[in-house]
Amino acid sequence: MTKIKLPTIREIVDKYNLKASKKLGQHFLFDLNLTEKIARLSGVKENDVVFEIGPGPGGLTRSLLETRANIHVIEMDQRFLPALDQLNQFYDGKLTVHCGDALDFDLNALAKGKPFHVVSNLPYNVGTALLIQWLTTPELSWQSLTLMFQLEVAQRITAKVDSKHYGRLSILCAAIAEPELIMNVPASVFTPPPKVESAVVSLRPLPLQQRFDDLDTLAKITGLAFGQKRKMLRASLKPLSADLEINISIWLQSLKIDPTTRPENLHPDQFMQMAKAYKLATRIT
Ligand code: SAM
Repeated sequence: MTKIKLPTIREIVDKYNLKASKKLGQHFLFDLNLTEKIARLSGVKENDVVFEIGPGPGGLTRSLLETRANIHVIEMDQRFLPALDQLNQFYDGKLTVHCGDALDFDLNALAKGKPFHVVSNLPYNVGTALLIQWLTTPELSWQSLTLMFQLEVAQRITAKVDSKHYGRLSILCAAIAEPELIMNVPASVFTPPPKVESAVVSLRPLPLQQRFDDLDTLAKITGLAFGQKRKMLRASLKPLSADLEINISIWLQSLKIDPTTRPENLHPDQFMQMAKAYKLATRIT
């Protein structure tokens, strides 16, 4: 029996009158060569569990389904449900659709304890919040994250110490993963085109024993340090001295960190060292 042919993404958008919503950060990919490339770079294989946030009309979803993996999509906009249902029929039930805000879903529970991948052309408005949630949720079993962001966010995720984009996000990512910018994507490939360029980032988790396990404290310290980026650490980290019951410069010197350093010149390992020492000193025994 020959299979029915799927309509193109553009035909789907026209058929269901899927006008892009600005509020939901909707910029669609119609070029299946590009979505195939993203699926290939993600390394997803047959029968893997994969989450895609915001499938929209389903371009990237199609390419992920071609791998024969089990795809879970989480979509907030119900207008896409008929198109996604059609995809599920075409790909023999390999697609599970969840409707709602991706921030509210427990991916471990949906994956039923199996490790999983996330591959997504993320909505700009919640992309960073989702990434931080995945990074900071303890025991979340992701094997890889392959995510499209606006270029500036991708640069922040992958930035190294002493560089322009280095900051809190770079350090949180480096604490538990190996982030890599794997593809630049021009605005012109989206419909409608966004105002800025985009890029795909890949994050692979570090081996368990190399991962930093207290992201909350690391988030607190990097938040203070980069909240006042132009200031030296002795000024920006001053609020910690009350908890530490010690002058902040003396505390930093005890860790062999120069109190006059600015945060962009401090290596992620040194932020992790501070987080560890802070936790130890403020732990209620
Ligand atoms: N994956 C499609 C593509 O590449 O053509 C669409 C990507 S578009 C940039 C982002 C998608 O995320 C939209 O379909 C939008 O409705 C959806 N979305 C926005 N906010 C969301 C949220 N909080 N939870 C789940 N989906 C969301």
